[in-house]
Amino acid sequence: MDTHYDIIIIGGGPIGLACAIEAKRENLSYLILEKGCLANSLYNYPQGMTFFSTPEKLEIGEVPFVTTNLKPVRAEALEYYRRVSEHFDLQIHLFEEVLAAEKRNGLFKTTTNKSTYFSKKIIVATGFYDIPILLDIPGENLPKVFHYYKDPHYFANQKVVVVGASNSSVDAALETFRKGAEVTMVIRGQEIGRRVKYWVKPDIENRIADGEIKVMFSSSLTAIREDEVDIETPQGKKTIQNDFVLALTGYQPNFNFLEKLGIEYEDQTIKNPCHNKETMETNVDGMYLAGVVCGGLQTHLWFIENSRIHAKKIIKHIINSYD
Ligand code: FAD
Repeated sequence: MDTHYDIIIIGGGPIGLACAIEAKRENLSYLILEKGCLANSLYNYPQGMTFFSTPEKLEIGEVPFVTTNLKPVRAEALEYYRRVSEHFDLQIHLFEEVLAAEKRNGLFKTTTNKSTYFSKKIIVATGFYDIPILLDIPGENLPKVFHYYKDPHYFANQKVVVVGASNSSVDAALETFRKGAEVTMVIRGQEIGRRVKYWVKPDIENRIADGEIKVMFSSSLTAIREDEVDIETPQGKKTIQNDFVLALTGYQPNFNFLEKLGIEYEDQTIKNPCHNKETMETNVDGMYLAGVVCGGLQTHLWFIENSRIHAKKIIKHIINSYD
């Protein structure tokens, strides 16, 4: 097996795939290393998830994303990225996790859980979906607490607390409610998130107004026990009966991994990784960032829609660096 490449791409999500397509078009040798399945983050999204983007905005490699839906669903996106990967015969090692990468004598040495590779350049396209932002409260590690939500059926006839007011929380609250769960939303702010999909927002607001889904605004979950939870509300502490907690309070990039690669932050508070906005090169010479990982803690800045252009920017810079 060849272990020397022009580029090692870490992450086989939509943007890692887009980078591989551009590398292939320029006859650069590359290998994608993906720790999970193809498009692992998308695979782990809720099963019934609908994208907020229209299909053409999720396209990579100029391959049309064909669907009769105005907004594609998760299963269609998985099928699309799998077919695109097959169409371009992309070189990808699945279920192979990158553990470290360092530069020696002008070459990067990348170590995975299975092998070692050498490359002139590295593209880090690791996304932000691997690490949930924790509530950091007693009981959070009980098996009844989920930081990823997959499917509503499991929660039928159960008392469910959904923490958060974003798209993920609202989708989970509505879906579980419609499968017979008794849902209480616990929301730190005073309203449903402003970025909630425009066609979903009236639905949740009407369910709340009708009292079908309970909500506690300006409130925080403070403790979770086997059959109840404590909530700090503006009226004081409340304890309610509870079977399951969906703590959907967002996700963050694996900062330990980025730091291990030598990537620094532009701003320590938002932890946005240093990179040149034109070339996408980080403070590590020859190491690039692509996709939603670029936003650091500001995970609302980057999407497939606006980050797929990173692929062309990076490959153009790499080609120019060879001239
Ligand atoms: P990812 O898809 O997260 O890919 C990163 C990959 O890197 C993962 O497969 C991961 O397994 C792998 N990886 C991580 N660490 C390692 C390692 N050490 N070694 C090997 N592999 C590693 N965007 C839109 O444009 N439109 C939408 O409608 C939309 N809806 C969204 C809905 C949800 C619920 C979420 C969470 C995000 C949504 N986004 C949307 C944002 C964006 O689509 C996703 O974040 C998208 O997955 C980003 O693509 P990416 O390739 O940058 O990162």
